[in-house]
Formats: sequence, C-alpha cells, structure tokens
Amino acid sequence: MTMEGKSSGICANCRNADAFAKVRNRPLCQPCFLRYADNKCSSGMKQYRMLGDAAKTRKQHKHLLPLSFGASSSVLLHMINGQVEHQLAGPLKFTNYDVHVLAVDPSTISPSRPSCEKQFDLVRQHYPRHTYTMIPLHSIFEYDPDISNVLRQVAGSGFEDDESKSYRERLDTFRASIPTTTSKDDIDNILLFRLIVAFAQHHGCETILWGDSDTRLAAKTLANVAKGRGASLTWQVRDGPTPWGLEFIFPLRELYRTELEQYAKLVPSVESIVIPDRSASEALSNRDLSIDELLNNYVLTQGIKYPGIMANVVRTVNKLRPAGFTSDQARCILCTSPIEPDSQSLDGAEITDSNAQNPPLQLCYGCRRSAPSSSLANT
Ligand SMILES: [Zn+2]
Ligand SMILES: [Zn+2]
Repeated sequence: MTMEGKSSGICANCRNADAFAKVRNRPLCQPCFLRYADNKCSSGMKQYRMLGDAAKTRKQHKHLLPLSFGASSSVLLHMINGQVEHQLAGPLKFTNYDVHVLAVDPSTISPSRPSCEKQFDLVRQHYPRHTYTMIPLHSIFEYDPDISNVLRQVAGSGFEDDESKSYRERLDTFRASIPTTTSKDDIDNILLFRLIVAFAQHHGCETILWGDSDTRLAAKTLANVAKGRGASLTWQVRDGPTPWGLEFIFPLRELYRTELEQYAKLVPSVESIVIPDRSASEALSNRDLSIDELLNNYVLTQGIKYPGIMANVVRTVNKLRPAGFTSDQARCILCTSPIEPDSQSLDGAEITDSNAQNPPLQLCYGCRRSAPSSSLANT
C-alpha cells in the first residue's frame, strides 16, 4: 500500500471520489478502502456468520477474541463488532456471535510495556455489546493448574518454586531462570498461548479469533521453522480444529500489516485504543532481539517490498494438511502440542533427568531447545 496525494486520481472502485492511497496497485478512496478491508474479514468469518437456523433456535457461537491493543487485534474487534451490528440491524434482529474479549495486561508480559487500563475502559465504551475480561499473565497459575508442575520441571537448576510467594513473583523467578532472549520470548509466547487457551476452555468458548495479519502469519511461520517448531506450525497459522478442543480462526489472514495500521489510523475508535508497538529500533542491537523479533522485522521490511511473496508463504501454509492428532497421543508438557511419534524416536526420545528416580520429561523438539533444564537449551 502506498500513500499518495490527491494526484493518485480517481478511486478505481466507486469512480466517484478522489483516491487517498494505492491498495495493491489500485487507487482507492477512504470509504472503499475500509469496505475492502471489512470484506476480507467478513469472508474470513463466512462459515460463522451465516445465520441459517440459528435465528430460530437462538443458538449463538461463543468466540474468544484475544486483544493485545496492537493495531491488528484492535481492528479485528472493530470489524467483528461491525458484523454483529450488521446482523442486529438485519430483518432477524439477531446475532449468532457471542464475543468474549480477553486482554492479558501487556505490562505483566513485559515491564517495558505500558499499562493499558485507559485503553481497556475505552474499548468497553466503544464496543459495549461484548463481554470483557482483563487478567495478568501470572493468572496462568489459576487457569492452568498444571503450570506449577511444568515450570518446576522445565526450569533451570537454580529455580526454586516458593508457593508462599505471589503468582507474580513465582512467574518472575521462573522467567529469570531462562538464559537467552530467544528462549525467554519463546517461553513467554507459550505461556501466553496456554493462558488464552485455558481461559477459552474455562469459559466454554468454541473458537478463538486471532488477530494475526498476513505479515504476522508469515513471520510466525518462518520463526517457528527456525525454532524447530515446524510440527506445531499448522495449528498456529491455519483455520480449523486444533488439539485443544477449540477451533482457531485467523480472519485477517488476507490483510497486510500496513493495511491494518492504515485502517486503525482512519477509524478514531480504533486509533484511540491502539498502543504503539515497541519498535525494533528501540532494542539496542540485533543481538538483543529474539528470533521472533528478528523475523518480525525482516518480514515487515521485506513484506513492504515484496508483499506477494509473504502472502504466498501464508497461503501455502493454510493449505497444509493438519497433522493428524488423537486424544491419546503424547503431548509436550510445555507447549501442550501433540508430539509426533517419529520425531521422538529420531531425536533419541525424552530427556532423562539427572536424578534417575524422576520419570523422563516429555518435551517437543522446539521446547527442548528453549527449556533451561534441557541439554539442548542454548544450542
Ligand atoms: Zn471509492
Ligand atoms: Zn513443546
């Protein structure tokens, strides 16, 4: 998307107004650009917004929408809200969406991020039809009771979990035991993912609506391969059922990050809730960046030059057949993804604890590289 002055001519869509930008090589006016983006999200939700018999049975579909206050998830909430309003204004006066918005307080994920209480109040005022919850990352101890046990098993030797301490202190102590930036970031992502999934299960949600843009999905794909997480890749980028008993949907998968940022700027209710991203330039050097951050930056800069290539990465991954999984299949204790039987035997199976009395840890290859207790960590 390129921004140009009024000289970019007439909108190629309505032919009735001055274009404000070129969107994928077509000059569009602002209303046509907003409609173009709304339609992409709407087609991403196609199978869930069809009313069918739902209006007669009054059956609603319970969606969880994780909100990070970044441009993408904020735009997603705005668009989903628009679909709800559209249904309610229709002849049936009914919506089959029951949306629960979950914000995990960003200041509890990284102390460098600001608190978002003001934005949380604003978002509830702007989109009052939905249910809202804000929780800190350390509430994972409440929603995911297995986590204490898991942290104890995967932490480095210096870690001692003191149950008399607060959840916040216990999580901080664990994170301090992780040696590298990449592992820290990787494990934070896993904890955040586990918390969101556990919350969705606890509240009986059927789907999670993820705000990832095309650009973000491409970065995630490359980062997962680089981190040895290829096996769990399909669920993290593909629409459909997952091993966690929930469906994942990525309704913004066809929109580029730059398009979502532009959208957020044009819609005041969205702009007021977006917290600007911590930009990579704020980090001291590439050495301080994790693999996730590096690839995010890479895809952002390259994606602007070659958007078609990034779109291809994402489309190809969405076509991958999901790895089959069964409910009795072994799961990784950290990221909870099913472990492929082959990969286990190939890598020499599970790690044995130095204390021979303990049963071996079941970790997938990616988690073994990040878990401080593992001999693969820091390689
Ligand atoms: Zn137009
Ligand atoms: Zn794992």
